[in-house]
Formats: sequence, structure tokens, C-alpha cells
Amino acid sequence: MLPVDAALADLLKEPERKPRLLVVDDQPTNIQVLYRVFADDYQVFMATSGTQALQTARQESPDVILLDVMMPDLDGYEVCRQLKQDSATRDIPVLFVTAHHEAQEETRGLDAGAVDFITKPINPAVVRARVRTHLTLKRQTDLLKRLVFIDALTHVFNRRYFDERLSDEWGRAQRTGKPLSLILIDVDFFKQYNDVHGHQRGDEALRQVAHALTATALRPGDVVCRYGGEEFACLLPDTDLDGAWQVAQRMKLAVRELAIAHPASTVAEVLTISAGLAVRTPSSREDAAALLALADAQLYRAKAEGRARACHAVLG
Ligand SMILES: [Mg+2]
Repeated sequence: MLPVDAALADLLKEPERKPRLLVVDDQPTNIQVLYRVFADDYQVFMATSGTQALQTARQESPDVILLDVMMPDLDGYEVCRQLKQDSATRDIPVLFVTAHHEAQEETRGLDAGAVDFITKPINPAVVRARVRTHLTLKRQTDLLKRLVFIDALTHVFNRRYFDERLSDEWGRAQRTGKPLSLILIDVDFFKQYNDVHGHQRGDEALRQVAHALTATALRPGDVVCRYGGEEFACLLPDTDLDGAWQVAQRMKLAVRELAIAHPASTVAEVLTISAGLAVRTPSSREDAAALLALADAQLYRAKAEGRARACHAVLG
């Protein structure tokens, strides 16, 4: 994984590729007109039926869809409804392109989930401007969605992100049959640290710990999250006990090497962490809560056995 601020910057940066536009119309001549309007600035995908539109939308993840209303197989309303029902295509803005612009028709389109209407014959400047507006709105929404997953204090991922990733990675591990490892980390005697040094220094210590933990989870799929308070969680896909144990040891060392003085600790002169580690190759019938509970129990054990250490268990 990247250092914290680099990861944040990476998460927030604008894509460098051309925006992707899907144009749907059963009349090839209409598609050609729109293609000429957008070909220079957009990567344009084309579909000449509703069925093809749904398929292309799922495959190519366009940023915006221009959708003809009148089509012989599935009409535009039905295509739009199906796009909005599929989580893979739900967030793509759909603009209807229609020859008959009446209030009733527009209402029907908006009810189906469209964001805008464009009337045929099209005016290139107007269509370009409308598409650009919806593209900007979509990018802003995407950005906000990503920010929702960042912990404001430490800039690592937050609990919400962890919950989603745990569920995703568990499902993936079930399909691939590869082990999934989870490390829960708790900063030792953190309440006492805050009591002695004040909350501002406490916050700064948490930021440093988050940074140190992130720097030890090196592979692209590894995730470090702030789980809550002074607890962190590290998810390691496709990682067995040996691999996860090494990560936990590196984490322990990395936090010690920060050399944050902690006179109120009874286990060391510097800030330390305890870690609970669980590994599981999930079977089809369990859910991820089992892994979480096991890691939590191991963290409790590490605390009970004197802190500044890691304990582990392999589930099943
Ligand atoms: Mg048509």
C-alpha cells in the first residue's frame, strides 16, 4: 500500500483518460451525428438496441449515456429503469434524446431515472454543454463518495470502508478458495497517553501510527483502516498465516521505531501496539463476522497476556 498521503492523493485525483460516452439509438444516422459531436473529446461507444445498450453499459462503464427513447425492442424508459436497478450501472447519468418533447414524456423519463432531456434534431453546442455539465456533476459525486471512506484524522480508510471491503474480500475469498487474513491493532495504554499529553498530542500520535501501519502493508490489495478510537484493522487478501504474521511483526516494530515517548505505559518507554490476527479460507456458508470475532478475541488475548505483542488463530 502507498504512504497515507500518497494514497489519499491517488484516491482523489481526476482520471486522465478521456471521458467515456455511450450513445444509444436504433437509427445509425442519429448515432453518426452524435459521434461527430463527441469523437474528438470523448471515447464514444455505440449501441443500436436496448439490449445492446445494457450490455455495453455493464462492460464499458461509460461516464454518461445518451439514450434514444423510441426503440423497437426495449424502449429508452425500460433501458433506463434496468440501468438504475443494476448496482454496476446505477450511478451513470442518463440523458434522453427524443424527437417529441412533451411534459408528460419528460416526467416519465425523469421517473425512470434520467437526469436530462435533449431534443432531436440536436444542437451540437447544447448537447456538448449538457453532457459536460452532467459529467462534472458525476465526477463531484464520485469524489464525495470516495471522501466518505476516508478517516478525517488519520487519512487512512475509515470503518465504513473497512466494513464494505471485508464483505467484498470475504466473498472473493469464497470464490477463489484463497485465505483471507485480518489483523486488529490497538494502541497500548492510549487513554493514559491522552491523559498525560493531552488530546492534540494523542491525535498526532494516532496519525503517526496510522502512517507507520500503512507503510508496512505493502501489496496493492492490502488495506489499513481506522477501526475506531485507537484501533486499526488491516485486511490482507490472499495471505496465509505466515504472511500475515510477518506483517503483524513489521507493524509492531514500525510503531516502536516511531519512538513516541510514553512514560505512562507499563510495558515500554515508547508507544506500542497489541495485535490480534485471524486467518481463514472461508467456506460458502459462513459470513465475515466469524473472522472479525476471531481477530477480536486474539487482540483481547494479546492485551491480557501483557500487551505489546501479537496473538493469532486460524479459523476452522
Ligand atoms: Mg429511435
